[in-house]
Amino acid sequence: MTTKSFHPPQRTLMGPGPSDVNPRILEAMSRPTIGHLDPVFVAMMDEMKELLKYAFQTKNELTMPVSAPGSAGMETCFVNLVEPGDKVIVCQNGVFGGRMKENVERCGGTAVMVEDDWGKAVDPNKLEETLKSNPDAKIVAFVHAETSTGAQSDAKTLVEIAHQHDCLTIVDAVTSLGGTPVRVDEWHIDAIYSGTQKCLSCTPGLSPVSFSERALEKVRNRPSKVQSWFLDLNLVMGYWGGEGKRAYHHTAPINALYGLHEALVILKEEGLENAWARHTKHHQALRAGLEAMGLNFVVHEEERLPQLNAVTIPEGVDDAAVRATLLNDYSLEIGAGLGAMAGKVWRIGLMGHACNARNVYLCLNALDDVLGRMKAPVERGVEVAAAQRVLAG
Ligand SMILES: *Cc1c(COP(=O)(O)O)cnc(C)c1O
Repeated sequence: MTTKSFHPPQRTLMGPGPSDVNPRILEAMSRPTIGHLDPVFVAMMDEMKELLKYAFQTKNELTMPVSAPGSAGMETCFVNLVEPGDKVIVCQNGVFGGRMKENVERCGGTAVMVEDDWGKAVDPNKLEETLKSNPDAKIVAFVHAETSTGAQSDAKTLVEIAHQHDCLTIVDAVTSLGGTPVRVDEWHIDAIYSGTQKCLSCTPGLSPVSFSERALEKVRNRPSKVQSWFLDLNLVMGYWGGEGKRAYHHTAPINALYGLHEALVILKEEGLENAWARHTKHHQALRAGLEAMGLNFVVHEEERLPQLNAVTIPEGVDDAAVRATLLNDYSLEIGAGLGAMAGKVWRIGLMGHACNARNVYLCLNALDDVLGRMKAPVERGVEVAAAQRVLAG
């Protein structure tokens, strides 16, 4: 056997991430690699911080990409802010809240869980009650956009309640950033992390984070060392902090950062509000089509994310066979259920560059064909017209 170059097929990615990468981003990533302390590169980093501040709607000085995927952004928030013995309230309404609990415990903290049903938003009243019975809590953590179910929580209200009880807040915005409003300063979020491969439509592997001055104060003044050397912001700031002057911490993923820079330029060109509106519009079209087929959404309308559409798999339909056929016959990827929802739902992403009319129609036509061939109990031949009505209106 001769070893050859790897050429992946061209797919349409309509799952929970990664989403389709804009070709402009891939082209940007193929530009010449330069040194990570090259003045030209450093100037690009400064510009990237400004672009990220725009994406997060913040003036936070410490706004930068962590050199690893969304999960590392999560860890960056927890390892820096949770000290051994700290009590942290973690709101869980899906898979990712469970990972927050893991993070707290590995930092030597105690996690107090606020549990909500999967598919529902976090209940602010439950958070309030939990804070009242845990006056020694230091931090409240929650997922803004729960990708495992497609539910969106009211970040502004949850942060307000946390602050009334003197807690800092950690917010997961991996799936929300770029697809649905995230307003770090207006909502007074203390620490937030996101990912590049969801609504920013960049390649996976970077995690934008932003820390408020108040959160940074805790990081700077903690008596114990941050247990992760790589993610310790006190050290990372030597490279990313301030303007211009940079000290070596780790070799930045140069070309990946070109990609994120391009992704953020694209977002700026479109405008945040326009990007949010585009996600809402195409979600409404996809929804009309899916519902015309008789498929039901997992999440109640008011709490639904436009970029992640979770629908219940009809009775008797072979989940894996449907997804495999979509992949083989249409080169289309949709997401399987995760955790407690495995085998029960499909998660159809409309994220970033993949959020467009062509993909709405592609997905509806493909589902019509594949579900029809499998004799699934769905209405056929009606979904495209239903989507069309929304997009035309
Ligand atoms: C995807 C995702 C993550 C993890 O991001 P990775 O880039 O896969 O590490 C964390 N939280 C949420 C809500 C996500 O959707």
